[in-house]
Amino acid sequence: MTFSSAPMHYKRLGTSGLKVSQFSFGSWVTFGRQVDTGLAKEQMAAAFEAGVNFFDNAEVYSNGQSEIIMGQAIRDLGWKRHEYIISTKLFWGIHEGVINMKNTLNRKYLMQAIDASLERLGLDFVDLLYCHRPDPETPIEETVYTMSDIVASGKALYWGTSEWSAEEIRAAWEIADKRNLRKPVVEQPQYNLVHRTRVEVEYARLYEDLGIGLTTWSPLASGILTGKYVDGIPEGSRASLSGYDFVTEQASDAALIEKVRAFVALAQEIDMTPAQLALAWTASNPNVSSVILGASSLAQLEENLGAVAALEGLTPELIARVEAVFS
Ligand code: NDP
Repeated sequence: MTFSSAPMHYKRLGTSGLKVSQFSFGSWVTFGRQVDTGLAKEQMAAAFEAGVNFFDNAEVYSNGQSEIIMGQAIRDLGWKRHEYIISTKLFWGIHEGVINMKNTLNRKYLMQAIDASLERLGLDFVDLLYCHRPDPETPIEETVYTMSDIVASGKALYWGTSEWSAEEIRAAWEIADKRNLRKPVVEQPQYNLVHRTRVEVEYARLYEDLGIGLTTWSPLASGILTGKYVDGIPEGSRASLSGYDFVTEQASDAALIEKVRAFVALAQEIDMTPAQLALAWTASNPNVSSVILGASSLAQLEENLGAVAALEGLTPELIARVEAVFS
């Protein structure tokens, strides 16, 4: 099977009117640590060329540097504001030791953090603003009011959550519904071949009941599904970096690596790369609006964008074989 080129598809973000490319591009770990502004620009240009219209970021990525790099790259590339969708996420904060500025979704933090993110990005608004994690110490109502106010002010066009429980998402949605506030339209969970339950089971009722869309993260389980760890941990890979012990642990999990070995063989048999097959599988879930790609080099990103074409070769029989490997 060859994957010369295939057109990018655009899906509505849940029942909102916003259309996002089925594959998007994010900057976690990479921008500011493995990827400088020059490479970020090359990667974003390649993604854009392939039809990617959505770029994901967060305040906490490289402690604000990732937003600075993405904003600079967009200016250097000369993109017009109507040509792309950009997101950022708030929760962890970047001001060490300051009460109300770390691990919170309280009103003071959110109102100040959105302004600081916009300044770093050099933008007047983000398209999507996420609550990066739930905050058990702030009433959901306070967070919903504030996110709704931010949307009403025009600093974000839509808002959503990341790794909230189904119960928390429903509570936020119902508060907004009852009080006539802006509702959350999107959740950003982890979703890949080895991490499926939340998206497929826990959230099952949210898609139809609330119209929630998904932009999903770590589609390659931080690179493990590419097969790069079957013979140990390569120098410079994510599992070799300090601060990502959970990746190192997974990359050293013998049972998981055996499954990845079988997955690599299956991908080779059908002339796809393991990365393309894993990404196409993730995108094939109808509840996933956009799969966020990550890449520490241009070559990785180019390979991964081949998933657009790989998706066309993903038959129900192939999906069943892929899932059987990880069952
Ligand atoms: P992946 O699971 O796809 O991992 C990407 C990493 O895998 C790359 O940086 C690279 O790491 C390695 N890799 C990717 N492609 C290849 C390839 N073809 N061959 C070999 N190695 C490859 O996605 P991420 O974990 O990066 O997540 C994607 C995006 O999702 C993030 O950028 C971010 O925007 C978002 N995200 C959101 C979170 C949230 O809490 N909301 C949490 C995490 C991510 P290396 O070369 O260093 O080994």
